[in-house]
Amino acid sequence: MVLEEHPDFLDTNPDEVEGERLFEGDILLTPTQRRSLNERKGIAHPYYRWRDGSDGLPLVPYTFGDRSVDRVAVWEGLEHWMEHTCITFQRATTTRTPHLRFIKGGGCYSYVGRMGQWRGQPVSIGTNCNVLGIVVHEVGHAIGFVHEQSRPDRDGYIKIINSNVIPNRLSNFNKYSNAAINNMDVPYDYSSVMHYGPKVL
Ligand SMILES: [Zn+2]
Repeated sequence: MVLEEHPDFLDTNPDEVEGERLFEGDILLTPTQRRSLNERKGIAHPYYRWRDGSDGLPLVPYTFGDRSVDRVAVWEGLEHWMEHTCITFQRATTTRTPHLRFIKGGGCYSYVGRMGQWRGQPVSIGTNCNVLGIVVHEVGHAIGFVHEQSRPDRDGYIKIINSNVIPNRLSNFNKYSNAAINNMDVPYDYSSVMHYGPKVL
């Protein structure tokens, strides 16, 4: 999926939201997930996958958690995923089962995959995040994707020049083990909406 250029939100995203340090710039992790990553277990554990709807295909319910979030931008981002994948996003008919809760928080960020929180898990479309590329990227995290440049095989495709990275941002360029990430035999995708651009700080 190739999307239009968008402003580099990592430059303006806060380092912390809701008392948690953002992982790789825009990812919220539960303590368990943070531990799992350190133990090199897969973040893509079946628990974190969204369940199938009655048509046998993934169904992701969502709500809007506040009045200020840009609903049109969210709808366009969800439409994009529905157009290109078999996933359906549907307004939640109950907020007592896991769902995405779109908010206008202090930046652009999301958890990775389904958290199982019946109150809904936040996906923040903050100021300047309400453009297609960013909404699609954050929703990509919410449905279970990590950054493309974190793939176990990334060194065969890109070169991270550590001396060009601000030291406290080096963790933005983590590489996962094969145990953590299943590439599902999908080739490396330079144009992935989950890939950072060449000049990310
Ligand atoms: Zn991201």
